[in-house]
Order: sequence, then C-alpha cells, then structure tokens
Amino acid sequence: MTLLHRLYLIFSTVAVISNNPVHTIKIVKIGALFDNEYSEAEIAFRFAVNRFNMFNKDYTLKPEVRYVPETDGFKTGQIVCEMVESGLSAIFGPVSSKTNDIVQSIAETLEIPQFQTFWNHKLQKSATSTESTAFNLFPDPKLYSMALATLLKEMRWKSYTIVYESDEGLVRLQDILKLHRSDDVPVRVRKLTPGNDHRTLLKEIKASSELQIILDCEAGHILDILQQAQEVNLMDEYYSYILTSLDAHTLDFHSVRTTQANITTLRLIDPNTKYIRNAVRDWEQGYKRGSHLRPEKVLTRTALLYDAVNFFSTVYKELDATESIHASPLSCSNPLPSQHGIRLSSYLKLSLLHNGTLAIPLSGPIVLDSSGRRKSFDLQIVELSGDGVRKTGTWNSDRPHLINFTFTQQERQLEIVQQLSQKVFRVTSRLGAPYVMWRQPKTGKRFHGNDRFEGHSMDLIAGIAEILNFTYKFELVPDNNYGSYNPKTNEWNGLIRHLLDRKADLALCDLTITYERRRAVDFTMPFMTLGITILYSKAVKPPPELFSFMQPLSFDIWLYMATAYLGISIIIFVTARLAPGDWENPHPCNENPEELENIWDIKNCLWLTLGSLMAQGCDILPKGISTRMVAGMWWFFSLIMCASYTANLAAFLTMERMGPTIENAEDLAKQTKIKYGSVLGGATGSFFRDSNFSTYQRMWTQMEASEPSVFEKTNKEGVKRVKTSKRLYAFLMESSSIEYEMERDCELMQVGGWLDSKGYGIAMPVNSPYRTAISGAVLKMQEDGKLHKLKEKWWRKMHGGGKCSALKHTGDDSAAELSIDNVGGVFVVLGGGIAIAFLIAAAEFMWNVRKIAVNRHMTVKRAIMMELKFAMNFAARKKTVNGRIDESNDITNEENQRNHSSTPKDN
Ligand code: GLU
Repeated sequence: MTLLHRLYLIFSTVAVISNNPVHTIKIVKIGALFDNEYSEAEIAFRFAVNRFNMFNKDYTLKPEVRYVPETDGFKTGQIVCEMVESGLSAIFGPVSSKTNDIVQSIAETLEIPQFQTFWNHKLQKSATSTESTAFNLFPDPKLYSMALATLLKEMRWKSYTIVYESDEGLVRLQDILKLHRSDDVPVRVRKLTPGNDHRTLLKEIKASSELQIILDCEAGHILDILQQAQEVNLMDEYYSYILTSLDAHTLDFHSVRTTQANITTLRLIDPNTKYIRNAVRDWEQGYKRGSHLRPEKVLTRTALLYDAVNFFSTVYKELDATESIHASPLSCSNPLPSQHGIRLSSYLKLSLLHNGTLAIPLSGPIVLDSSGRRKSFDLQIVELSGDGVRKTGTWNSDRPHLINFTFTQQERQLEIVQQLSQKVFRVTSRLGAPYVMWRQPKTGKRFHGNDRFEGHSMDLIAGIAEILNFTYKFELVPDNNYGSYNPKTNEWNGLIRHLLDRKADLALCDLTITYERRRAVDFTMPFMTLGITILYSKAVKPPPELFSFMQPLSFDIWLYMATAYLGISIIIFVTARLAPGDWENPHPCNENPEELENIWDIKNCLWLTLGSLMAQGCDILPKGISTRMVAGMWWFFSLIMCASYTANLAAFLTMERMGPTIENAEDLAKQTKIKYGSVLGGATGSFFRDSNFSTYQRMWTQMEASEPSVFEKTNKEGVKRVKTSKRLYAFLMESSSIEYEMERDCELMQVGGWLDSKGYGIAMPVNSPYRTAISGAVLKMQEDGKLHKLKEKWWRKMHGGGKCSALKHTGDDSAAELSIDNVGGVFVVLGGGIAIAFLIAAAEFMWNVRKIAVNRHMTVKRAIMMELKFAMNFAARKKTVNGRIDESNDITNEENQRNHSSTPKDN
C-alpha cells in the first residue's frame, strides 16, 4: 500500500471520528483476509467500511486486514488465530476458496460470523456448531446450476461438449448433466489437462465436429483457453460457447476478438446500474495511480465483499440497538465460542438487504437461507461477441426454469442480415450440368473468379446475394463428390467434408437433403423438389431395309416356299399326265374324238400354282381327282402361308414402335438382363442402401453384386452408359436431372414415376447463423417466381434445351406411317418383274419376226419394220396370219384363230 493511499484511508476515518466529539463511539473490529496487498477487493472493502463510518456516528468499523498466501492453509490458519485474539465481530474472506476451509473451520468453531464471496458448495454447519456462522453471498450453487441448465434448455442445445477444469465444476454443471436423457445425442464431458497447454484436447474437440462447448474454468484461465481454441480453428462463427464463470464478462476479449464464435455467459453484477457506477467512482479515488477501474471490470467477489460489509454493518447496528453486542478476544488454543456469534448469525439470516436501505447492495437484494446461502438473486445473460458485451436476457431465482430474453430472435436475425454486407461467403460446388458448368469463353476472352462458371447454381446464389447484399467466392470441391459418409473411417467426403473442414460457408449444387447429411450439416429450405426415377434409352428403330417385306418370313422359309412351288408344279404336271380326267376332248362338239389332249404342260402348271399362291386364282383348273387333290393341298398351304405372312408383317411393323420392356422399378428388380446403377456415393445410392422396402433392398443387393460395377462417378457418365449399352443398362437418377437430359437427347426416356420425394438445399455448417436469412431469400425467390424462371432457363432454353419437348412423353403412340423405305423393295420387285416381262416380250417379238421373215421370204429388217409398224398402229385390232395386214377386215374369225401366232391353249 502506498503512503498516499494509507493517508487517504486514515484521513477519511479520522474525519468521521472528529465530527462526533461528544459521542462514545463503539469500535467494531472486523477481520479481512486478502491474497495480495491493495487489491481491488481490498479497496472495495475499505470503502464500504469508510462509508459506514462516515454515515454512522455511534459505530466505527475497525478493519484488521491481513494478507494470506493463496494456497497455504497452515499459514492462513495461524494468521486467523492471531486475528481472533483481538476480539473480532466478523471475518471477511478469504477471497478465494483455496484457503477457506481452515478459515471457515476456525470461524465456526469460535462462532464468529464469516462472510464468503466465492463459489462454495461445501457450505455446511460444522459438527461443533449448532448454527452455521458462515455466510456466502455468492449465488447458491444449486440455484446457479439450475440457471445454467435453464440457459442450455432455452438455447436449445442438444449436442455439446462440456470442458471443465476441476471437480467443483461438475457440481456446478450437475443440473446440465441431469438434463441429458439416455436416448439423447451423447454429450461429451472432457477435463482440461493439467498445465497450460490444452491444444491436444481442443484438437480432439475439433475433430469430433462438436460446435457447442460449455467451458467451466476460472475466469483467469478463459482467455488463455480461448486463444488456444482459436489456434485450432475452434472459434469461428459456427462455434458457440457458454462460459460458466460469473466473471467472464469482465475479461478483455480483444485478443480473441477477431474470431466470431458466439460466447454466452451469465453475470450477477450489472455494470450499467448507477449504484455500481457510483461505487466504482468512489473506489477509484483510492485506487493505484494510473490505474483505471471501470464498472464493466468489477469482479463479482469485489462487489460481493462490498455488499457483505454493508450487510453486516447494517444488521449489526440494528441488532446492537436492541441487545448490545460485545465481541471478546478469542483463542484458537482454548476454543470457547464467542457470545455474539450465534445471535448475530441468526439475525443475519432473518435480515434482508435491499435497494431501499442506505447501503445499497451492488449484487441485488441479499436474502440468505438457514445455511447461510444466498437464495434470491438475478442473473443476466450476456453475449460476448463483436465489439463487447451485450445483455440478451435475465434469469431470476424465483422462476428458475425460465429465461426472459430481451434480445429476440427477430432482432438477432436482423442484425445478422445487416452484418451480411461485410461477409464474403465461400461457396463450394461441383461440376454437373445444368447446375455448375465451365463458361465457354467467346472470342478468346478468359474468365476469372466467379465468371468462370455458369449454370443454375450460379444464378441462384447471385439471386440470394442480391437479396441479402453479400458477396461470394465460388470454388469447386477438389474431389468433385457430393458427400457421403464412410462408417469405416468415420469420415465424410465431397462437399460435406469441405463444409465440416470449414473450407466453405455454403455448398450449392444438386445436393440432396438427406437425414444422414442433415446430422452433419445444416440445409436451407429446398429450392427444388424431385424424386428418384429411372433413365432408360428409347427403343431404337432399325433403319428400314429395302427388302423389309421379306423379314416376316425367314430366308429358309422363302427358300422352302420356292422349292415347294416348283415341286408342286412338277407334281401337278406329272399327275395331270397320269390322271385320265385331265385328258380332254379338244372339240367338244365331236362326241367321238379320235384323240384327247392334255392342257397341263409345265407352263400351265407353274401358272396355276403361282396364281393360287398369290391368292389370285387361275382361269384353267385341273379336272382329275388326283390333280385336284394336289391343287387343293397347295391352296391350303398357300392360304396358311399367306395368312402367316400378313400377320407377321403387321407384327414386324408394330414391333418397332413398342415401348420399353421395363415399366417401373419392380420390373427392373425382377429381371437380370438389364443392369441398373446410380451415381457412386450419391443420395440415390444411399436411398436404396438404407431402404426397408424389399424391392429396393433386392435392387441394392443386385447393384452391389454386379460386375463390372454399375455405379458411375457422375450423372453424365451414367447417361452415356445408358445410351451406349443398347438398352441393357438403366440409370437410377433424380427426376430433375433426367428432365434436363431428356430435353436434349430424344433417345432417352424416363421409366415409371418417382420412387421417393425430396429436395435440393443449400448446405452450410451446423449452427450457421446465416441459415434463416438464406432460407428466407430462397423462399422469396420462390414466391417471386424466380426459381421457376431459373429452371425454365437452364432446362428448356440454354444449351440446346427444348429439343425433345414434343417427344418427351414415353407413351408417344402417334401412328407411324410407312415410308418408301419400308416398302421400297416391293416397288423394286414390281419394276424387276416388269423389266423381265419386257425382255420376254422382246424375245417373243423377235422370234415371231424371224418366223415371218422365213415364211414370207423377206429380210429380217423388213420384217421387224413391218411388225413394229403394225404394233404401233393402235387402231388396228386384227392381224392376218404371218403378219399380213388385213386392211379390208374381211378375214374370218375362224381363219384368224387358226393362223394367229398365239394359241388359246397356251394362255
Ligand atoms: N443429388 C445427389 C446427391 O446429392 C447425387 C445424384 C444422385 O445420387 O442421383 O447425392
């Protein structure tokens, strides 16, 4: 203590005494124990004493101040024993619990009221004492524990890690521990390692992905631990801390200010009251030169010591007025209790120090229970974030299960939105059309930063950023995975891992919201809804062949038919020669002909069989029983063959338009020919893996067992496989992506409906303060129709969209017309046949010309000219024998018949 300070204190005491020369002043000796000289607590104590002395003419408090080593109980005991010999009315201190046991023991044995100002859960009557003489102005441990539990409940913490320093902390946290039920998410409880380096423990907490931490340690250690937490990246905006020390708010968080973790704590002393401001102003006068004490920095124990002196002095005065108190010297070696102790203690417990009294308590009204504990008090909930301390609620011991929040959720959100303009979000994504694609540079211009990408996700984040007024940096996740959990390594990959590693603030692409992912990260409300469905390729129409009319019958059948045709013609020829019925009278008018003739030469046989095969019939028919039998059988054969051909031809034509052979997931599950798979490590695969539905389980088993693997790294690769696998591979894909592909590739089709229903959301680390704001922006975009416009743009307009809209439905049953490609062969056959007929006609003509030339002794050339001239004379209807033109037309029919080159028998 400096000389100046001592003079100041002595002066103020003397001034009070000299003002009351005629009064007998009762000297009340009080002991005080401090750990070091002229501490803040001592200043407060002395000022409380002086203040009392100044305002009370009949009493003078005479402090016996001693400094005790913080951890030396023996020495402390000796000092207290010395002190009690001077006749103390009360003992104040020590200031910490470390040396309290011996002090409390002596005080209780000698029945001297002792005032404590620190956490003490062991406050109880000693065996020798009938009434407890120890008073603790620190909040009752049970009630304080309840306040912490209520805070936790109100903050809706479900999963958290408790970090504590000493076993005392567990007592403080017992109500929190009791909150936890067996079916709740496990809570980790970790003890700080002895020493000052806690990085290993903090790294373990970091690895556990725990984001909510309750830190129970001495106020003096908090900053050191938080600095170490900052070193291991445990102090960013996604982390929340509850500090249990009632002095946490007095700490200087400048050193960890750069971090944005939410730190909540409780305080008993409200530095904003005029009482504490006045008190601090007074204390400062006796404080060290150059030092500056601020109300926000007043430790709880300091304020409580000030209150304790006021409480004691007020109650002492009241009691002494009715029955005089006399404190006699006592001795530790002859432990006779004081005469006044029990009386004073009982009176203290009945008393109340509140704001109406002269000695206004800084820590609120003081009411003590029968064990000397403080049973009524208010606590303030404060947040230590940003630029300082902010009060967010209050807790009152009368309603211990409630917290009255003064800073509402809406106000908090508003504040977050206001702060967003300073935030640069790191948005991570993966390549996949149409969500994120490389922007194709035009005219050799290179893009940089966010401009390198385009797609639905880019437009979506730009829209959200516009609403919330923030900036962002878009980057791709190195492994290009969505995010799947590996139970063997306990690790996530892809976008989810990136978020967990705090390498990004948001993850945005076609990222499906799943239960498993939701446990690791937070999602906004979905910006698109979809379901799993099947991508398959449409039946490919083979290019029509020229002779496709041949296809209904196999080549063998055509060959057999040709053979049968020839065979039957020969059989008819032979049987006709054998059958008497086919030998006919050439002149039916001559009843007794000398000879019979048979019209069934091989030409006529071939004509008969051909006519019936073509279902045309023939103008000459057999008359013999056997020939009729053969012809009948041939007709039967022709009938069946014709009908079969017609039926098969129709089937062949319709078969090309037939739908897929699978119509839903059940169809896929039932067969093994068509393989099916999904994106590796995607939500679709997880859906089948985790499904309880037997069909999907079976499908998952099939998929897993398939060799080669049916899984693809990306949707793009899956689509490619569907297209190249000739309908032997179906890809289980999300409907939105299928829709996109079907807009551009008309060979693809969707089979069946949705197998489930889910959504894509923007992912962010759990506890992200921005979730509500971003969800709100997504909702706004949806209500403004912007999400719909974005979908239209990227699905149907950009990059070749809308190409297959007209054909996108799988049940496209419009009748397909036959083109020339389908029936071209029939024309070819017709043309070919006609050409052959012309050749035969030419041969017959030349043969006839030759005959005429020989018969009429003319040159071939003249005969050709004559015959051609006659043939081209379309008016001539009759022709003479040997080519002479009958100009008079008087040649009889009979003659004409006889001489004409073609006989009717030939037909
Ligand atoms: N959208 C899926 C996911 O987020 C990936 C694609 C899929 O699994 O079909 O995992």
